[in-house]
Amino acid sequence: MANADSADVVIVGTGVVGCTIALEALAAGCSVLMLEAGPRVERWQIVENFRNLPPSLKAHWDAAYPPKPWAPHLETYSEASAGDYLQLEGPDARAYQQGYVRYAGGATWHWAGICWRLTPDDMRLKSLYGVGRDWAFDYNTLEPYYTRAEYAMGVCGPSDPALQWPPIRSKPYPMGPTPFGPGEQRFTDAAARIGLRNLPSAQARNSGISYHDRPPCCGNNNCFPVCPIGAKYDAATTLPKIESMGGVIMPNAVVYRVETGSKNAVQAVHFYDQDKVSHRVTGKLFVIACNGIETPKILLLSKDQQNPNGVANSSDQVGRNMMDQPKIIAKITMAEPMWTGVGPVQSSSIMDTSQGAFRSEHSGALIRMENAARSGQAGVAALKKGLVGKALDTEIRRLAACTGQVTIEHEPLPSAINRLTLSDKKDWLGLNKPNIYYDVGDYVRRSADQYSVPIVKRLIAELGATESEIGTEFAHSDHIMGGCIMGNDPSASVVDADCRAHDHANLFLPGGAAMTTGGSGNSTLTMVALAMKASDAIISQLKAG
Ligand SMILES: Cc1cc2nc3c(=O)[nH]c(=O)nc-3n(C[C@H](O)[C@H](O)[C@H](O)COP(=O)(O)OP(=O)(O)OC[C@H]3O[C@@H](n4cnc5c(N)ncnc54)[C@H](O)[C@@H]3O)c2cc1C
Ligand code: SF4
Repeated sequence: MANADSADVVIVGTGVVGCTIALEALAAGCSVLMLEAGPRVERWQIVENFRNLPPSLKAHWDAAYPPKPWAPHLETYSEASAGDYLQLEGPDARAYQQGYVRYAGGATWHWAGICWRLTPDDMRLKSLYGVGRDWAFDYNTLEPYYTRAEYAMGVCGPSDPALQWPPIRSKPYPMGPTPFGPGEQRFTDAAARIGLRNLPSAQARNSGISYHDRPPCCGNNNCFPVCPIGAKYDAATTLPKIESMGGVIMPNAVVYRVETGSKNAVQAVHFYDQDKVSHRVTGKLFVIACNGIETPKILLLSKDQQNPNGVANSSDQVGRNMMDQPKIIAKITMAEPMWTGVGPVQSSSIMDTSQGAFRSEHSGALIRMENAARSGQAGVAALKKGLVGKALDTEIRRLAACTGQVTIEHEPLPSAINRLTLSDKKDWLGLNKPNIYYDVGDYVRRSADQYSVPIVKRLIAELGATESEIGTEFAHSDHIMGGCIMGNDPSASVVDADCRAHDHANLFLPGGAAMTTGGSGNSTLTMVALAMKASDAIISQLKAG
C-alpha cells in the first residue's frame, strides 16, 4: 500500500499518461503514489467557471481553468500572461504558445478527443525519406499498445477498413464512429469531388453507448473547454478509480527536483506544497509524466554532481527536438448556412495528404473542417461591428451558420535547435520558467508554400465559399512532443524503447516527450500507447526485484 511518503511506483503528473501507468501498475499489484502540481476539482466547477466567463472569453477554452500561483500555466487568451509563464523565442515563437492546464487530470480535461495512430511510414522517416529520425521500433511493435490504449480510453471509430487510418489493426474499435454534422458532410462531399477522402476520426468519446461508466455523447459541442457529462474521455474520470484501487493522489504537489544516489539510480523526488514547504518522497521506480514541456523542465532543474547537465541528460538531448504540428488556419464564409457545430468539435480529417514520396522534400499534412460551434466568435465579431438589437441578433445568427474554419496541421521534424532551456525568470515558487526556441523549419514551410495551402485553396473553391482568408503565420496545435526523445543510441537520445532513461535504470519518461517523430495527426493516442508499453516494462522490472 502506498502512503504519502513512499510507493513502489511514484508517478509525477495525473494527466492521461500518468493515469494510464497508475491503472496498469495498480492492476498488477504495485503500490502507486501520484504527485500533481495542480488542484483537484470536480467537473461541475469547471462547467460553472465556463458559464460565468465574460462573453469575450467564451471562445477561449483555457479561461475556465484559472491557474494557481504555485502551478502556473500558459493562458493563451491573454498576450501578457501567455508570455509571462512560457518564455518563447525564435522565428516562430508564437507558434509554440502551447495550451495545457496544470490541474489534476491534465490537458485531456479540454482536449478534442481525436485519436489518430501514426502510420508505419511516419515511424521510418530517416530510412524512407532521408529526413528526421527512425523510431527505435516499428509500427507492428506499437500496434498492440495502440489497441490497449483505444480500449482503455474508449475510442470510437469506423469498422470499415476503407475508412480506417491506418487500416492495420488487430482489433476493431470498441465503438462505431460519431455521425458527421452538416458542415462536415458538406466538406466531405467537396473533398470527394476533387479526389480526397475525408475520413471519420477515431475519437475518445462514447458514440451511442455507455462505456466505462461514461454516458453516450449527446453532441452538444461543448468539448472545449469541458464535456459537461463526461462522455468524452478525460483523465479526471479515472482519478476515483485509481483511488478505489489503492492509489494515493496528492494534489498541489509541485515536483522540482529528482534526487539521484548510488549507481545514478533515482532515490527520491522533492516537491513544494501550496505553502511552499518542501517534501521528499521515495520509491522503487519513478515516472515523470508532466507533458513535453514540464517533464524536461524538471530534469533540467535537477542538476547534481553526477548529472551536471541535469538528470537523464548525458546526451545533452533533454529539452531538444521540441515538436508540434505547425498549423495554418483558413477562415471561410458561405452564402448560405453550412451549420458546423452539430456534434463533437471535430469528427473527421483528410489523412491521405500526410503520406507520400514528397516527404523527402517537404512535410505531409492533415486537413480538416473544424466542427466547433461558431457562436462564440460570431458574437464577438458581430459586437465589434457595433451592432445592437435585432441587427446584432441577425448578424450573430448569420456568422454562426455561414462561417467555418479549415485547418492544416503539418508534420514536424525533430530538430536539436528547437530547444527548451531554463529561463532566468522565476515563478511564484522560485522555480525557473521554461524558455523555448522555436523555428518550424524549411521542411514545413515548403509544405505550406507548395503543397498544403494550394490543396486547401482548391477545397475552398470547391466548397463555393464567397469569402476566404488563409492565415500566413503558423499556429500551435497543442500537441507537445520531443524534449526527451527516444532512441537506441544513448549518446543521441534520452530514453530507450520502453521510455526508460538511458542514464537511470529506475526512471521512466513516457508520453509526448519521448516521441521520435510526430506525424500529422493528433498525438495523444501515441503517448498513451507509449505509456502502456512503459507500464509493461515497469511491472516486469518491479517483479524482477
Ligand atoms: C484545446 C486542446 C485540444 C486538444 N485536442 C487534442 C486531440 O483532439 N487529440 C489529441 O491527441 N491531443 C489533443 N490535445 C493534446 C492533449 O490534450 C495532450 O497531448 C495530452 O493531454 C497530454 O497528456 P499528458 O498526460 O502527457 O500531459 P498533461 O495532460 O499535460 O498532464 C501533465 C500533468 O502533470 C502535472 N504537472 C506538471 N508539472 C508538474 C510538476 N512540476 N509536479 C507535479 N505535477 C506536474 C500537470 O498539472 C498535469 O496534470 C489537445 C490539447 C488542447 C490544449
Ligand atoms: S459533443 Fe457534448 S457530450 Fe459529446 S463529447 Fe463533446 S461535450 Fe461531451
